[in-house]
Amino acid sequence: MTTPLDGNSIAGLLRELFGRDMTAATARCDSCGSTGELARAVVYDTAPGVVVRCRECTAVVARVVRAPGRAWLDLRGVSYLQIDLPD
Ligand SMILES: [Zn+2]
Repeated sequence: MTTPLDGNSIAGLLRELFGRDMTAATARCDSCGSTGELARAVVYDTAPGVVVRCRECTAVVARVVRAPGRAWLDLRGVSYLQIDLPD
């Protein structure tokens, strides 16, 4: 059994995709409705890509596959991402 990581383990990957630190962004799980910082998500990185699961209900909230020159980001398990911005 693979030991899962937390969302901080994909901070660099998320920064590459979004151009900013996303670990403090709040995600709402589309399955159970819980909200939490991406840093608290459960991450499995042994698949061909990265699988991000909800810490509360274990539903898949995101999948990321990185390949040379491109990436695929599946966020269908997230109702919304709340990203803090300066006023
Ligand atoms: Zn959930």
